[in-house]
Amino acid sequence: MKPLLAVENLSVTFVRPNLFSRLLDPNPPPAFNIIDAVTMALMPGETVGLVGESGSGKTTLARAMLGLVKAAAGTIVFDGRPVRVPADFRALRRRAAMMFQDPVASLSPRLRVGTLLTEPLAIQRVPMPNRRLTAQALLARVGLPASFVDRFPHELSGGQARRVGVARALSIKPDLLLADEPTAGLDVSVQGDVLNLIAELKRDLGFAAMIVTHNLAMIRHVSDRLAIMYLGRLVETGPTQDVFAEPLHPYTATLIASEPVPDPRQRRDSLAIRGEIPSVFSRPSGCEFHTRCPIARERCRSEAPAYRRMQGERMVRCHFPLETGGQERDAFARASTNHRGKRHDQMDHRPA
Ligand code: SF4
Repeated sequence: MKPLLAVENLSVTFVRPNLFSRLLDPNPPPAFNIIDAVTMALMPGETVGLVGESGSGKTTLARAMLGLVKAAAGTIVFDGRPVRVPADFRALRRRAAMMFQDPVASLSPRLRVGTLLTEPLAIQRVPMPNRRLTAQALLARVGLPASFVDRFPHELSGGQARRVGVARALSIKPDLLLADEPTAGLDVSVQGDVLNLIAELKRDLGFAAMIVTHNLAMIRHVSDRLAIMYLGRLVETGPTQDVFAEPLHPYTATLIASEPVPDPRQRRDSLAIRGEIPSVFSRPSGCEFHTRCPIARERCRSEAPAYRRMQGERMVRCHFPLETGGQERDAFARASTNHRGKRHDQMDHRPA
């Protein structure tokens, strides 16, 4: 089966604005890759969870895939066709919809829900014999009453706004939905409602989905595959169950270990990731995760690991992946226990 969407070596560059230095210095300010050579594919009908901390570049990657952010390098292929010029991206966005993180802020506050829901259809000149009835049908699809067509965005609760966001994204009957943090800021019970709604619509309509999130517990139950991002690069991909059962990258393992466990009888010591995610403007040398990695060695500081295939469909970017039964997994468990709470600069580093 061919991928629905495939990106190869996709990079997004940001030039730090520095007007003063531009005036004084004939050399332009340096450019930084905020998305760096990402290669990944989404198959028809599957759900991929794109996971990482805030600042990892996952939203920028999703936007670049749809041409909402300009890529500096790389290729995008949708349904077997290259997507290169603005007209290609417009055609892509007729079949791939984005659900934005803050649905109320992303909707015009002066437009009523009925108009907002049918706006994507109007932009794409899809015939609508009766715009109001079309909007009411979309509301019914996401479990909201028909009377909501007359509401304004600020009159919606968080959960209702997400439902409107889902209905608006799905109004064009996309083959692909990119949902950016669809449950952020919602109560846990409402989070479940929104995810169940997306899963139900996915079953009915058969679209593929990429869900951008930092919430591993949430994505575990709805995704087929995971793609873990750190500082604008993919560090691990694989089937969701496999990644949870055996995380290979220390960043993935730390994210999973950091997840709260609801049952206090099964509570393990939570393992917070040390420190803040570095800035892409001062990307660490070698492996970008070495400043926070519990098992970093000298080699990690100087040599960037390749993104390599492991068993099955697993890919990882690490010199010392945490394979089951391997000494790296034991070292990770020991280092995590020994150094929990210590600052990275207080840690020992074994030579490679
Ligand atoms: Fe940690 Fe080294 Fe692997 Fe990077 S390459 S994740 S620093 S063990």
